Amino acid sequence: MPLDVYPHLPEGLLDLPAQRLVERLPQSTLIHVDGEREPELFVSVLLHGNETSGWEGVRQYLREHPRPPRSLSLFIANVTAAAQQQRVLPGQQDFNRIWKGAAGHGAELAAALFTAIAGRNYFAAIDLHNNTGHNPFYSVLTELAEENLGLAYLFSDKAVFIREPDTTLTQAFAGRCPSVAFEVGPVGDSRCDERVYDFVGRALELDSVPVAAPGQLNLFESLARVHIRDGVEFGFSGADDNAPLLLTGGVEAVNFHELAAGTPFAAATRPLAELLCVLDSQHRDVTTEFFSQSGAEIMLQRAVVPAMYTTDPFVVRQDCLCYFMQRLEI
Ligand SMILES: [Zn+2]
Repeated sequence: MPLDVYPHLPEGLLDLPAQRLVERLPQSTLIHVDGEREPELFVSVLLHGNETSGWEGVRQYLREHPRPPRSLSLFIANVTAAAQQQRVLPGQQDFNRIWKGAAGHGAELAAALFTAIAGRNYFAAIDLHNNTGHNPFYSVLTELAEENLGLAYLFSDKAVFIREPDTTLTQAFAGRCPSVAFEVGPVGDSRCDERVYDFVGRALELDSVPVAAPGQLNLFESLARVHIRDGVEFGFSGADDNAPLLLTGGVEAVNFHELAAGTPFAAATRPLAELLCVLDSQHRDVTTEFFSQSGAEIMLQRAVVPAMYTTDPFVVRQDCLCYFMQRLEI
């Protein structure tokens, strides 16, 4: 069984930072914490092992509120990756891609968690993540239900609607209770821990999940992911100006701002098709819908709103360079 379940917080657990959780929790763990009322709030942390703000904020909250205003189920996901401060360990599956149709360990963990929570009622499910780069606080929705919009707005006025991947934990709670993922800022910034502390506290104090009024939320729809093709050496202007694929500086600073068609994105002498690959939600190659090339310049073919643009080469290789979005009116 790849999941341990505790009916209450193991003693001393709240003393451990994310990297040391593995000393008490050898594997994924679900912990029930009794509060003043039911149904419980489901909170998941460390689906990505280096994204520690969720755990740090929750543990500080629980230290100060040993009996919170509402019961909660706390799912601590990837403790072994957290011990190494890695998103995921080599050979592991991405713990936020295993909740539907996975194989191996992922399938076993998903089945174990769903069995452990079968028959339990949940007030809402909140999944806490960090990201890299300069992004505002925002939520990630997989369903546009009113209560999801309300829960998102409780956290931030910015939210992203994604259609894929459909294997996330947030999506797995769809139809069961309001369910939203939260991007609480960059890894390692203590202000992000405080944001979690504040948000989890407010969520636990709610009488009911609020409903957002139309237009309150700045909602964006994810269109595509931008990948750099395998083997292509790349760099960012200002840092690696001789890189064969030179990515225009400053793009990280414009996450969540609209960029017009024609905006320069990169410079390279090789053909676009050998350098960048843009995949839509059905994994179709839509590179030429988003980029054009003129001489050594690669520019945007259409207006987009970038998000999660990262200058961390490891994240670029393991995940993607950025997402392209457009504003969604509902
Ligand atoms: Zn994450």
